[in-house]
Amino acid sequence: MPPPTPVPRAVVRSSVVPMSPTAPQDTTWLHSRAPLSGELIGTFPLTSEEGVSEVIDRARLAARWWADLGWSARRSRLLTAKRYLARHAEELVDLVHREMGKPRDDARLEVALSLEHLHWAAVHAERVLGEHRVPAGLLTINQRASLSYEPVGVVAVIGPWNYPVFTPIGSIAYALAAGNAVVFKPSEFATAIGDWLARAFNSASTEHPLVQTVIGAGNVGAALATGGVDLVSFTGSSATGRRILAACAPTMTPVVLECGGKDAVLVDDDADIDAAADAIVFGAFSNAGQTCVGVERVYAHRDIHDELVVAVAHRAQMLRPGTHGEADYGPMTLPQASATIRRHVADAIERGARPVLGGVESIDERTVEPIILTDVPEDSPAMTEETFGPTVAINSVRDLDEAVDRANASGYGLAASIFGRTIPRVEVAARRLRVGMVSINSWVMYAGVPSLPWGGVGESGIGRIHGADGLRAFTQPRSVVRQRFALPIALTSFERPAWAGKVVLAALRARHGGWRG
Ligand code: NAD
Repeated sequence: MPPPTPVPRAVVRSSVVPMSPTAPQDTTWLHSRAPLSGELIGTFPLTSEEGVSEVIDRARLAARWWADLGWSARRSRLLTAKRYLARHAEELVDLVHREMGKPRDDARLEVALSLEHLHWAAVHAERVLGEHRVPAGLLTINQRASLSYEPVGVVAVIGPWNYPVFTPIGSIAYALAAGNAVVFKPSEFATAIGDWLARAFNSASTEHPLVQTVIGAGNVGAALATGGVDLVSFTGSSATGRRILAACAPTMTPVVLECGGKDAVLVDDDADIDAAADAIVFGAFSNAGQTCVGVERVYAHRDIHDELVVAVAHRAQMLRPGTHGEADYGPMTLPQASATIRRHVADAIERGARPVLGGVESIDERTVEPIILTDVPEDSPAMTEETFGPTVAINSVRDLDEAVDRANASGYGLAASIFGRTIPRVEVAARRLRVGMVSINSWVMYAGVPSLPWGGVGESGIGRIHGADGLRAFTQPRSVVRQRFALPIALTSFERPAWAGKVVLAALRARHGGWRG
């Protein structure tokens, strides 16, 4: 085991925001419990607001040391952390399964993806961010221009519980590779996993912890975001994202916000129905539908709509939730999740939606059987709000164009998938989608390409993690020019000749506006 991460021992006294009513806390300790069995997974001391400041101070020392280490030493340390994660992957898988409830095999996929991202960030950081020359331009031909991307310093990473490994690593790995130190606030529903991850990263550094944790609910996250960090990278609901954006405004602390979604799958009339149904079922029901890019809406061409509904229902009816070995997906991680699902499903049915599989009766206090609805009114919460449960609405549309319009008629804009065999038509539709990520003839595959940026538009967030953009997100660009020789006429001097401005403008008008311009 790696050395334990130091955690402040004090108690949260004042709340910046109310604590989540469901957060498993007393006033001193956070007791993390398994969602269905209530098994105690771990007990952690809550971090006080003063404790948060102390952690940020320690992270600042770590940030200076880490930035000074240079590219190759950082790369080598991150690859050491990666090897630790790879070698102890099954331990982490087991912890994910027990603390947030997803089946072990889903946790395995999450850990596998995270390893790929950590590797990519470590190996590509210098190429993407290191100092490089850029063309100086005509007016400044005597200058040598260079650009580098400098670490911002201390990055606060605030994580959710639904992908408690993949999601924080998408920020932590890229922030560290860019030369920053990290203070990580794991979700109060995934604290043991967060603590494990921090220790895994710190196994690569005896001098300073690369990742320090602060423990608690939203109030601790708020104290962290406003505690003087240099950037906040948040993944969670859009409601919390808005709060963080507002809280960071007075100090102009930059934010990366990876928020909720209401993702759609568009199915054209010539699509491979089996492939589409398979992807819809996994996208809608895996992880109990608790996936930011989970499939919540399907817009199917009217000619194949009914066939698709049958194919999806046929597969979905065989799925079983629970924590036993045969379970296809786990229980709802949050105790209040069932109430939201019930509200969306009941409201949709009241307004005329047709249940194809399951219905309100499928919703237990903690486990929810698969629910498929069709003809769901587009203005119902089931179509406009994030449901975050194992439910999917499959509506019929005239053609792919209408499917795009309906998919775009959402405040969210995280990702979407399109199934169809006429690739030019599908690609036109993909370009029209108002989302950050698109999968054609598959679901979620962009997540497995570390060089692609991850993030959404609208209420799905601001900024990107992953890929080159995800590395740059944790930096500030620094532009440097160095004069190589003096020009005969110095334009930025009071000693320039009276005609200089006119001549320069005339030359550039000719260049940019043409001789008549
Ligand atoms: P959440 O917003 O309730 O909490 C996320 C984190 O923010 C937690 O650590 C929480 O303690 C903290 N927090 C709460 N209030 C805060 C405040 N005022 N200031 C600072 N931190 C605060 O979200 P959740 O329930 O943990 O996660 C589910 C949500 O996350 C869903 O909406 C899902 O779509 C979204 N999500 C998005 C992505 C993505 O990449 N876009 C990935 C995973 C999850």
